[in-house]
This record gives sequence, structure tokens and C-alpha cells, in this order.
Amino acid sequence: MALSFHIETYGCQMNLYDSARLRALLSGAGYAEAPAAAGADIVVLNSCAVRGHAEERVLGRLGELKGLKASRPGLVLALTGCVAQELGRALLDQYPHLDIVAGTESYDHLPEMVREALGGGGPAANTGFCSCDHRPVHADFSGRVAGYVAVMKGCDNFCTYCIVPYVRGRERSRSPQDVRAEVEALARGGVRDVTLVGQNVNSYRYGDAGFADLLDRVAAADVVRRLRFITSHPKDCGEPLLAALAGGGPVCEHLHLPLQAGSDRILGLMNRGYTAEQFRRLAERARAVVPGLVLTSDVIVGFPGESEDEFRQTLALVADLRFDAAFTYRYSARQGTKAAALPGQLDDEVKLRRLDELIKLQNLITAGSNQADVGRTVEVMAEGPSRKGGGQWFGRTRGSKPVVFDGDQGTEPGGLYLVRIIEATIGTLIGNRC
Ligand code: SAM
Ligand code: SF4
Repeated sequence: MALSFHIETYGCQMNLYDSARLRALLSGAGYAEAPAAAGADIVVLNSCAVRGHAEERVLGRLGELKGLKASRPGLVLALTGCVAQELGRALLDQYPHLDIVAGTESYDHLPEMVREALGGGGPAANTGFCSCDHRPVHADFSGRVAGYVAVMKGCDNFCTYCIVPYVRGRERSRSPQDVRAEVEALARGGVRDVTLVGQNVNSYRYGDAGFADLLDRVAAADVVRRLRFITSHPKDCGEPLLAALAGGGPVCEHLHLPLQAGSDRILGLMNRGYTAEQFRRLAERARAVVPGLVLTSDVIVGFPGESEDEFRQTLALVADLRFDAAFTYRYSARQGTKAAALPGQLDDEVKLRRLDELIKLQNLITAGSNQADVGRTVEVMAEGPSRKGGGQWFGRTRGSKPVVFDGDQGTEPGGLYLVRIIEATIGTLIGNRC
């Protein structure tokens, strides 16, 4: 019987994509996927280092797996992704039960590293930035309706709080042909809703092609019903992208546009490249150009030196812009970033109080946005039966809002259905099929 692997993923959509590629690479090497770590011969933790908390979670999980390794010494344990890139070989000394450390550019080497570890080769680390991650192996999202395709790697923006440029390297865009080929491969595997991912997708450039051109080319392949993208940087969000969003067809009316802060001084210290007023104008323009746009964002509180008044400016702008939803974070100092060395680092107590206030405000706004959908008929792509059971199905609107609705015998994953919304909570719309 084939040896089996299990992958646990932490962090963002890029990591979900990387895990789907790791799945394809390990399946291609002859291993079978196992549903849980307990029964697997190879366990991969694909890690996130963006905030201290995410890093602690994955390292905590690694600690927990010590018992499993002790009970089955033949088990191969691998740590991949951003924490592997950040901490490197030192992890092998710190966690002697760990066999493999593979950084963000070393995924393609994982099957070889696993083979060597299974053969008794001893612990190994690979964290080079070799740009050799180009094997034509497409991500494996089989059995899923929604999948991700990376259009670029790395980031050149160096926002002062962010570790991404250090653990993912400089920006490199994939060719439109490669991106399109991977979207087509996902579609052949049953994926109907593709999100193009990158740390800053709208700075995509390959020869003459910018991101809006890439979207056009992928949409023209006409193989998926929905096409989305994440994340856009406000400073690169121009008219061609808004026009692509307004164009209908598979390109969905959803824009994730991280604000981060409402104070110009803090935005400057963050090196974000826009002012609060410029962001406001961009959000207003996007809503004016794209009918029915769902606008979501990321906001950080407690950046070093953020005064109470500057925090209130963030609250005021969030109240004004009324994002349909937002991810809210308290600033987490990441070693090696500029912001970690700034004076005025705030106590956790202050950060938590501010975060709590921001979450309460955003929850009210999100509830209002969802409430406004009650009585409307929306197009929902079914993803699968709802965990609630009782014939209920789970799906998403074009704006990516989660919907629970009553399915019937004919409801199938990937199908598009018109659903009349009858109720809304902060997290979900509830409706009936028309
Ligand atoms: N590239 C995207 C952008 O520019 O917005 C997002 C990438 S990052 C993985 C996702 C979000 O994590 C960021 O938008 C930011 O709000 C948050 N983030 C990044 N570094 C952080 C830090 N050190 N502390 C708290 N939040 C952070
Ligand atoms: Fe990090 Fe800024 Fe790059 Fe986003 S744009 S990944 S926040 S450095």
C-alpha cells in the first residue's frame, strides 16, 4: 500500500495555493492523501509568519506532534512555508523530532527530501531563494468547487510592519500562458470559482501585460464561472482594474482593498504610499464604477506610536467607508522589519482594547451590509451541503458572501442558483431557492 501524507495549512490564500501544489507534488511522487495526521506516514505543516500569533500556533502544533513521532519513529515530519523560511535550519536543533525544513522557494524539493528522510537520510533544511520552483505541476484542488492560482510571488512594497518581502522575496510574475494553463487544469478537476492570488496582484506585470490584461485573458478562456483576485494594493488600483471589475462575466464584483490605518502619519510610517483621503476617493470611485461592488479590507490597530487620536481617525474612516467586511488585526512586531525597531511600541492591553472597539464597529457595519441583502435575489454558487444538515446547502454570492440555502435533489456543487435572502447574520446570509 502507498505511504500516506497529511498537510495542515496555516495563513493566507497563498498558503492554501502552496498546499494544493504540495498535494499535487506528493501525490505525483506516489503518496496517498490521509485525512488526519494520526494515520499518516508524512505530516507537513505549511506555516504562516505574518503575525506572531500565527507563528506560535504552528510551532505549538509542531510541539504537539512530538508524541506522535515518539509513538511512530518512521513518521516524517516537515515544516514548510514562511516560518520555515524565516527560522530555517535552526528549527532542526530546536525541534529534534522535526525531519524537514523547506522554505517558500523549496516546495519542489519536498518529494526528494521526503524520500531521503524515509530512507534514513537524517534531518535536512532547504531555504535557498533559487527561483527554481517552476516545475509544471498544477495545484490540486480536486473535490473542491473553489480554488486558487498564484499569479506572482513575493512583494516589493516593504510595508514597514510586514515580514512578507523577507520570507517570500522580490516580486516575480508568472506568464499569462502559465496562469491560464493552471486555471484550465483546475477547471478540468472540477473547480468553478478561481481566485488569482498574489501579495499585490495589481502590480502584476509580464512583458506588456498588466493585471487587467491577465484577467481578460483568463476570463477569455471561458473555463470557470467565477474569477476573483486577492490582494490589491490601493496604490496600484487604477481604472483598468476597476473596468475589469465592472465588466461582468466571470469577473466577480469583489474588491479586497486593505486600508491598514486612517491616520496619514501612521500610513506614512507604514510606507503604504497613499493618504487616508486618497484611499477614500479610491473606494468611492470603485463603488461608483462597479455596481453592486462588495468592498472588503484589512485594518491594523496599535502600530508603534499610534496615539489615541490617530486610532480614532481609523475608527472614523472605517465608519465612513462602511466596508462590507474587514479583517482586523492588532499590530504584531516581526523581527527584522523596520516597524519592530520603531519607538513607541504599545502594550498589548492598549492594542487589545483598540482592536475590540474596531471589531465592534466593523461587526455593526457588516451586519448592516448583510441586512441590506434581505429581500434581494442573489446568484449563489453551491459549494456543498451545509454543516447545519437538514437539506441545507452552503454557497457564496458573487461578492463572496457566505449563504446557507435550501437545496433540493438537483442541487450540485459548482451549480449557480438564484436565492432569495430572507435573513442575515454577521457571518451568513440565509435564503430560499427561487
Ligand atoms: N499584500 C496584502 C496587502 O498589502 O495588504 C496583504 C498581505 S498580509 C499577508 C495580510 C494582512 O496582514 C495585511 O493586509 C495586514 O493587515 C496584516 N499584517 C501584515 N503584517 C502584520 C503585522 N506585523 N501585524 C499585524 N497585522 C499584519
Ligand atoms: Fe506585506 Fe505590504 Fe507586501 Fe502586503 S504590500 S505583502 S502588507 S509588504
